[in-house]
Amino acid sequence: MPAEFDVAVIGAGAAGLAAGRTLQAAGARFVVLEAASRTGGRAYTDIETFGRPWDMGCHWLHAARTNPFVPIADALGFTYRATSTPLVRHLWQAGSWVDADQIAAAQEAVDDAFEGVRAAGAAGQDIAASAAVPLDGPWGRLARHWLSLMTASPPERISARDFAAYVDTDANWPVLEGYGALVRAHGANVPVTLDCPVSRIDWSGAGVRLETPRGDVRARAVIVTVPVAVIAEGRLAFTPDLPPPMAESFAGLTQGIAEKVAIAFDRDVFGFTERTGVTVLGEDPVSFQILPGHPPLAVGHMGGDFAAARLADGPGALEDAMLDALKSAFGTSIAAHVTTRQATGWAADPFIGGAYSSALPGRAHLRANLLQMVGERIHFAGEAARVDDFSTCHGAHLSGVAAARRALDLRVAA
Ligand SMILES: Cc1cc2nc3c(=O)[nH]c(=O)nc-3n(C[C@H](O)[C@H](O)[C@H](O)COP(=O)(O)OP(=O)(O)OC[C@H]3O[C@@H](n4cnc5c(N)ncnc54)[C@H](O)[C@@H]3O)c2cc1C
Repeated sequence: MPAEFDVAVIGAGAAGLAAGRTLQAAGARFVVLEAASRTGGRAYTDIETFGRPWDMGCHWLHAARTNPFVPIADALGFTYRATSTPLVRHLWQAGSWVDADQIAAAQEAVDDAFEGVRAAGAAGQDIAASAAVPLDGPWGRLARHWLSLMTASPPERISARDFAAYVDTDANWPVLEGYGALVRAHGANVPVTLDCPVSRIDWSGAGVRLETPRGDVRARAVIVTVPVAVIAEGRLAFTPDLPPPMAESFAGLTQGIAEKVAIAFDRDVFGFTERTGVTVLGEDPVSFQILPGHPPLAVGHMGGDFAAARLADGPGALEDAMLDALKSAFGTSIAAHVTTRQATGWAADPFIGGAYSSALPGRAHLRANLLQMVGERIHFAGEAARVDDFSTCHGAHLSGVAAARRALDLRVAA
């Protein structure tokens, strides 16, 4: 049977939409198949819950000076705050606010931990971040918290070499109307078939045959942008199996956990006039963005083992932990002013399966595998398929463009 399409794209997050746009511009016959009922994937801005945008996934334009979404935002009329702020701004610990001198010491300790892990990785040591730097000093728990948020994994499961490969430019700008809304607006003209999970890619014959609940889809080539956990956990299968080096990549690049909870209040209970960051270093370390406005919002971030433990406690435990952290810093009376709260559920979503990818110790080399095509017709894309801007939304976007160009080159050559 002849192929229906030149290229099929699986997934309509930042990578899939970028691939779709690139194929569309080239006049290719293509289809984008998305399991969920909406586009965007981990780029998602919720506006309904609070009547103001909050990003459940990506929010900051990382590497902002070279990030392709900055000119896209300018063209589409989105705004962003073009200033970078230090990680440690307001810090609550052991029952009091930490003073300015100690804030500086805390920031230095976090920077030293990051630099220590980077130095080990840059020297080629593919060891655990926890083996590269001591995390037991006065600010060790804070450094563990930030390493966990940056990678979604605990330091024991972070490859120092992978961490070092990420190019951090320190320019991280929040998108005020929502990064998720920006990604979806940019991809708005890409035709996407929603509610169409692909369960299997059969590449035993010529081209590929994709099994979906709406019937089979045939194409000459496929661009697979699903999160690595979806493949590692067998929710997208391959016939025949992927070659061992490729299959190993999906086991060695883990997605980790990073979840957020947004809590709205009926009045300002924080006393900040501008958006700012607050870290509460209690039993459950949480970093909040405090967003003045209507309604005032606190968006809490928790990652790695800390978040995994609360998720394991069952429904509502993550929200309770975040509110308890806020109460410890701002007083128990703030609870009476809570109107609504909403948690993300990235780890529990069967088509996402976690936050963002991080190589396990000893596995940093596996990312490069994802850039290899399989059988001259299966191309991988998505945030994991990048070597120096992985785990980001713009990295996902660039991977989608690159995969589409590779698929088009092959089509031209065919
Ligand atoms: C809490 C959190 C905070 C983050 N913060 C930032 C940030 O501030 N800045 C930043 O740059 N990045 C951030 N990220 C990371 C960023 O959101 C992701 O790297 C990026 O959005 C991933 O895009 P993607 O296209 O690779 O994958 P996804 O967005 O996950 O898209 C993959 C799509 O494939 C679909 N799919 C899965 N399985 C199937 C199937 N079998 N058939 C069909 N479709 C399928 C999924 O539904 C999904 O829509 C954050 C992520 C999280 C979770």
